[in-house]
Amino acid sequence: MTATASNAVGEPLDLNARMFGIQRSISLRAPLQEVLDSITQGAAELLDAEVVGLRIQPGDGVGASHASLLGYSEDLLEAFAEMPLGHGFAGRAFSENRLVVSDDYQAERDRVGRNERYELQAAMATPVLEHGRPVGVINVASARPGRRFTTAEQKILVSLAEYASVAVTDAAAVDQLRRSLDRAEFEARHDGLTGLLNRDGAIATLDAAMAHASAERPLSLLFIDIDRFKVVNDLFGHQVGDQVLVEVASRLRSVVRGDDEVARLSGDEFVVIARGVDGAIAGRLAQRLLERVADPITIGDREVELTVSIGVAEADEPVAGESLLADADVAMYRAKQGGRCGMVRFDGKMRAELVDRAELERELRVALESAELSAYFQPGVDLSTGRIARVEALVRWKHPTRGLLEPDRFIEVAEETGIIAELDRFMLEESCRHLAAWSACRPDLSLSVNLSARHFKDDSLVAVVREVLQATGLDGSRLWLEITESVVMGEDSAALETMDRLKELGVRFMVDDFGTGYSSLIYLKRFPLDALKIHRGFVDGLGEDREDEAIVAAVIGLAAALGQSVVAEGVEHERQVAWLRDLGCPIAQGYLFSRPIDGPSMGRMLAADVRFPGHGVPAAEEPVPMAPPPRLVSRAW
Ligand code: C2E
Ligand code: CA
Repeated sequence: MTATASNAVGEPLDLNARMFGIQRSISLRAPLQEVLDSITQGAAELLDAEVVGLRIQPGDGVGASHASLLGYSEDLLEAFAEMPLGHGFAGRAFSENRLVVSDDYQAERDRVGRNERYELQAAMATPVLEHGRPVGVINVASARPGRRFTTAEQKILVSLAEYASVAVTDAAAVDQLRRSLDRAEFEARHDGLTGLLNRDGAIATLDAAMAHASAERPLSLLFIDIDRFKVVNDLFGHQVGDQVLVEVASRLRSVVRGDDEVARLSGDEFVVIARGVDGAIAGRLAQRLLERVADPITIGDREVELTVSIGVAEADEPVAGESLLADADVAMYRAKQGGRCGMVRFDGKMRAELVDRAELERELRVALESAELSAYFQPGVDLSTGRIARVEALVRWKHPTRGLLEPDRFIEVAEETGIIAELDRFMLEESCRHLAAWSACRPDLSLSVNLSARHFKDDSLVAVVREVLQATGLDGSRLWLEITESVVMGEDSAALETMDRLKELGVRFMVDDFGTGYSSLIYLKRFPLDALKIHRGFVDGLGEDREDEAIVAAVIGLAAALGQSVVAEGVEHERQVAWLRDLGCPIAQGYLFSRPIDGPSMGRMLAADVRFPGHGVPAAEEPVPMAPPPRLVSRAW
């Protein structure tokens, strides 16, 4: 468009410059109202009109309405701004979606009200469109006697309306974009399952809340982890698991105050951010949360009972959200170690212990490389003969500065860090090597090796066992793998497959610490198990505790009925042996017979064919020395 117009005072106006200005404010995404105002101004100047109205009413209830009015008398202004777009002379342009022009406005029957200021003469109006649909109208009018809008001027109005259309469409797009950005931001910070804040949202909220943390107004963070949630998923499936998480989320929310924030960090981990709450009060809140979650949860026809462990950390000055989270996590971990279902408040010493753990992990990796680990062995005694029927390999760490370490000092770290895989592999090789060496005197002896549940998730286990058996020339049937109930819980078909493949090598399986896992016996039918090991917690009470006696009797009966063998562990007293024999338990293991001893000592014990005296077992004629002559050592290796 190259036409030049002049304004009311006769100054020539550069149409291009005006149009360009409007276009620029559109492309710079100036606020829509600002763009509309500049169009109104432009229309007044370019078309030499005293009255200009530009109104937008999207009508979809989503976009905002706008009005930019010039030259209207006060009494008309409000009414016109909000008048439905289809009304009046301008309304014709809107409803008919076309330009309307009048040379005698006063004669128009549908003119609205009376503009006190002007006796309007000429008028025209044209619609503003969004995606081709009228959403607004621009109208201009002039009071100059004899005034008519020329075709060129009509074109200018249509052009201005087009600009308004672009601006409105653009604004709608920007609006839409903003809404979807808001949505994306919301989703990025919330958990899709429970609708709670997610980890990022929790950290952002925590950091923001932290700015106000002070001694007068401390902030507490509760780290909540569901105990053994995996079992729920394994037993009932993920769908029920998800429903349980949703229920837990809503219970947590129901206990906290309105301005406390609940978030789900991941899986079964939740946090509560409690502003203006010190550690002691947070401890009481934790107690209420523990109680609320403990109520049985009903999902369909199932009832699930849960416990949680809670760690509480408090900030009385601003610290990084992540760091408070780490403290609360450490405390939660303590709560779990303390037998689950409890609450622990963080204190600074815990952090130091965390550093110790990291150091332990580093040293453990070194230990594996530098032959500091070794296999100790504890005999399992045949209660009918008093003879050693089997040995269990138990790892020991000859630490360069801390002395001989037992597994409870490092197994957990090994499990958490994955080092356990290498450790168990080492133990398999080392103990099989010993068994092979003892074969000369005890070809019938079998060996038990403890395996972490982790192995059943990686498929190298079968290859490792196969290689070890080949390298040592041992018959697979002499090797028993002690696994925990967690391996055989649930529907883990991968574990079942691994076990089947190991069984093809002749290997046998014993469930360690039987009865301490989840109380489902379904797995006894489904998995290829050969023996149950009765946990020493039950063996303890034999001869003293009727419940323990009943449980041990039941496990022995169960094993017999299933055609499985049974081993009692942790036997420390003769009275326990008497009970076990009476109940028909074939094999027992414990300090009464021998503590775990190193390979050479075990070699000597086997070579001497030691018989352990026990109830009903005749004592060996000669007392057997526990450390027989050293010459036998060289025979073994
Ligand atoms: P576990 O498999 O239940 O092993 C039995 C534990 O009970 C051993 O502890 C053993 O020394 C101890 N024990 C044996 N008889 C008695 C008794 O009469 N009274 C008492 N109070 N305790 C007795 P240890 O050697 O400290 O091993 C602890 C746990 O560490 C083991 O429990 C096992 O779960 C794990 N572990 C040991 N070696 C390995 C290994 O090579 N790999 C894996 N994955 N875990 C291992
Ligand atoms: Ca064991």
